[in-house]
Amino acid sequence: MSGPEAAIQAEIRLVLGGERDVALWRNNVGLAEFWNERLRRMVRVEYGLAVGSADLVGIGPGGTFLALEVKTERGRTTPEQERWLELVRLKGGVGRVVRSAEEAVEVVRAMRARTGGV
Ligand SMILES: [Mg+2]
Repeated sequence: MSGPEAAIQAEIRLVLGGERDVALWRNNVGLAEFWNERLRRMVRVEYGLAVGSADLVGIGPGGTFLALEVKTERGRTTPEQERWLELVRLKGGVGRVVRSAEEAVEVVRAMRARTGGV
């Protein structure tokens, strides 16, 4: 990922990074291929939490699991991303698609309102 989505994500990390009730980590998802000397062959390793897992993952107000899938204004989620966010919500977490830092801040505000946080 690069370009506008990366810029939005960087802004979100900057804006929410200073919040005492939020901790978010970057979750890179993908498949890496590299040479394994011992096996004498190329090996493939999946990285990231899971296929479709969100760009930013962590803890929000109230200690609630928080997952933010960052998209540009016209960016589309994949079916895997939708399924993963739905799973987060099903298990009691907050899983949202956000298209700006303002939207991410609004998600956190709504979480605070629900948990009685400041
Ligand atoms: Mg994304």
